[in-house]
Amino acid sequence: MRIVIKNGIVIDGFGGEEKADIFINYGIIKGIDKNIDVSDAIVIDAEGKYVLPGFVDMHTHLRQPGFEEKETIKTGTESAAAGGFTTVACMPNTNPPIDSEVVVEYVKAVAQREGVVKVLPIGAMTKGMKGEEITEMAKLKKAGVVALSDDGFPIMSAGIMKRVMTYGKMYDLLMITHCEDKTLSGEGVMNSGIIATMLGLKGIPREAEEVMLARNIILAKATGAKLHIAHVSTKGSVELIRRAKEEGVSITAEVTPHHLTLTDEAVYNYDTNTKVFPPLRTREDVEALIEGLKDGTIDAIATDHAPHTKDDKKVPYDMAPFGISGLETAFSVINTFLVQTGIITMKALVNYMSMNPARILGISNGIRVGATADIVIVNPHEEYTVDKEKFKSKGKNTPYHGMKLKGVVEYTIVEGQIRYQKNKKFEKVEI
Ligand SMILES: [Zn+2]
Repeated sequence: MRIVIKNGIVIDGFGGEEKADIFINYGIIKGIDKNIDVSDAIVIDAEGKYVLPGFVDMHTHLRQPGFEEKETIKTGTESAAAGGFTTVACMPNTNPPIDSEVVVEYVKAVAQREGVVKVLPIGAMTKGMKGEEITEMAKLKKAGVVALSDDGFPIMSAGIMKRVMTYGKMYDLLMITHCEDKTLSGEGVMNSGIIATMLGLKGIPREAEEVMLARNIILAKATGAKLHIAHVSTKGSVELIRRAKEEGVSITAEVTPHHLTLTDEAVYNYDTNTKVFPPLRTREDVEALIEGLKDGTIDAIATDHAPHTKDDKKVPYDMAPFGISGLETAFSVINTFLVQTGIITMKALVNYMSMNPARILGISNGIRVGATADIVIVNPHEEYTVDKEKFKSKGKNTPYHGMKLKGVVEYTIVEGQIRYQKNKKFEKVEI
């Protein structure tokens, strides 16, 4: 397939921003220039639109194998493509979990056959994600995991976490940690505070995150492991990470679109689609998270896409599972609340959603001649109303349903193949 993208504003991910045409020849970017004309190529008119390096989501739950009623690799990657993502890293809390090379191979094979974007499996740190016995990391690495995590099942024993990090360092594997001290989060279902008290719901205090984060920083310092903090949610966490970076600890961090834009006030109507871990916090936390992004304390925006069925969420608030279906609203949420308001630039969005997550995962990304054509074309000014029923994801659990947002993904191109086009039904065909 040969494609020419004409007249778009190209942000290349390496600091460049200019109006240019891009010529993609069988998966590879062949030219970036003014007025490119090529015979027998598909021409995409991107006048008034941004042409960006494909988004990379470091934190996606694809649910397959084991929870196909919530999502499959097919629907999850279709959802990713609709959200402008060209690569997703998927978490290992499947059934069976991704804790052996067999499951890594399975996920890779299904992704190859049915996936429409690139899928990078994340392996478990401990067998069965039980926090007891460490996985065979050499084998996992050889099978192709990009990182290790027991996301959602935090390793409570500091001794075991230290062993995980010691081996992780040996195999040069990124350690992604969901920071939660279970003895502090307990039965909590939302942020501890006035609103939880008013609603009569059990709270999750900020210390549940910060205590575990502090421990993990100390262990990363002791072992030299590469630590990545998943879904940072509190002001105190931002301060801990900032200090660790100043001290030279090998640490990176991500924040989700929902933690950057919503607070625990969203829980007022007991909408279970606002139930997420870590919980939505307060305005002060949101401001600290944005500040952390802007000063480089937080490196990446990741969705923590956690699809659930309607029945899963159609229960009382304290019974509902945690999670938000986030791939299809990530760009428009960030564009609406942070870019269009002038808080960050589109170039910064590209760093947080495309370049930095790629760098942390050790994959290449960015628009330059000779590079793989992983590209997203977005219209930043078009307004739309979020309709969860239109999601490609099986997970309709979004707190943004009915909200007016700005910014629409027009095309997602993965390795030179158009994998999503707005308003067009799409079947996976290799050309
Ligand atoms: Zn998590």
